[in-house]
Amino acid sequence: MSLSKLILKPGKEQSIKRFHPWVFSGAIQRAEGAAHDGDIVEVCDSKGQYLATGHCSEGSIAVRIFSFDGFDGSADFWVEKISNAYRLRKLLGFTDNSNTTIYRLIHGEGDGLPGLIVDIYGSTAVIQTHSAGMFEQRQIIADAIAKIYGDMISAIYDRGDEKVGGKGTGTQGEYLLGSKHETIALEHGCRFDVDWEGGQKTGFFIDQRENRKLLGDFAKGKKVLNTFCYTGGFSVYALKAGASLVHSLDSSQKALDLAVINAKLNGFEAPVHDVIKADAVEYMKQLKEDYDIIVLDPPAFAKHLSARHKAVQGYIRINEAAIKQIKPGGIIFTFSCSQVIDKKLFRDSIMAASINAGRKVRVLHQLHQPADHPVSIYHPEGEYLKGLVIEVE
Ligand code: SAH
Repeated sequence: MSLSKLILKPGKEQSIKRFHPWVFSGAIQRAEGAAHDGDIVEVCDSKGQYLATGHCSEGSIAVRIFSFDGFDGSADFWVEKISNAYRLRKLLGFTDNSNTTIYRLIHGEGDGLPGLIVDIYGSTAVIQTHSAGMFEQRQIIADAIAKIYGDMISAIYDRGDEKVGGKGTGTQGEYLLGSKHETIALEHGCRFDVDWEGGQKTGFFIDQRENRKLLGDFAKGKKVLNTFCYTGGFSVYALKAGASLVHSLDSSQKALDLAVINAKLNGFEAPVHDVIKADAVEYMKQLKEDYDIIVLDPPAFAKHLSARHKAVQGYIRINEAAIKQIKPGGIIFTFSCSQVIDKKLFRDSIMAASINAGRKVRVLHQLHQPADHPVSIYHPEGEYLKGLVIEVE
């Protein structure tokens, strides 16, 4: 197989030699052969020496690298890559676990496959691609998953073309294997009905699994407000742990309907669980020390560096509202999933919010994404979820 080559400017090979998976357009000197969005290309140093193979992209990231050791174009290549990811999930105890059947099999760059997400919900695998190249590879990826899992996976759903920057072709989601069947899956014994066809991301926020479990440790007998609740993940854990009252709040009615379904699936209904359709900040502003615990898990406020300042203001606003209104001795689980807001900036934002609220705040836990969302040490950009558990005096 003969691939087009992208020749880098002198010195620009350093980051690739350190296994960083992105080539920025400014690093490229010239192309030998055609290199269109989605094409597989070889990246070479300025002397023409092979460095890596990846998918060509439009935009500032010109190549997303999926191999530093060559690529023979065979289906076996993808089977090997996905087998590596499977081995890690097996080591982590996910592949044969009667309590947790929801986990991430492929986490993009963290599994050496930029642009590819694969989540497992019981016997269904859900593929989400974020680059034209991975999108074009979807059937070969589905075949590899089917080969590795055998009978354990009976359906593979592809979410369709959701390319970076929203410039997809608008391709609808489709089943690449089997069809829709069981949609209820387990996380630490909690039951969740997952809508991978219509929901956000692949239908569920798997990355909060361990943080939800930690909430359970705090929730017995407590009044809990779960803001930005989406399908009620945190709410279910709090209810199961014996919270006296849980309010799930979201601005989306569709999300709240799913939160009600999931609470019911685990045996909880009004009055112990109720939903509130509101803007999180507006709702919190009018509270009067009603809750012992508040969860703040907003959507990514900043998707790009340019939006970082505005995002910080957003985090300060919601955290300030919660810190002001929570009961004395109350606990706040606060998160950011914006990649461009790093751990330190997030913590500084929480400090600013605490200063504005004028209350004493202590950090009890520092939280992050779980092990099935691994981060390559050479690609710190992959570390996106951060959280703090704080106590407000
Ligand atoms: N905590 C959730 C995931 C949160 S996703 C989980 O564990 O699954 C973010 C959610 O925030 C979405 O459901 C979205 O509808 C909601 N949202 C966005 N803006 C909001 C706002 N201003 N007020 C309340 N909810 C909002």
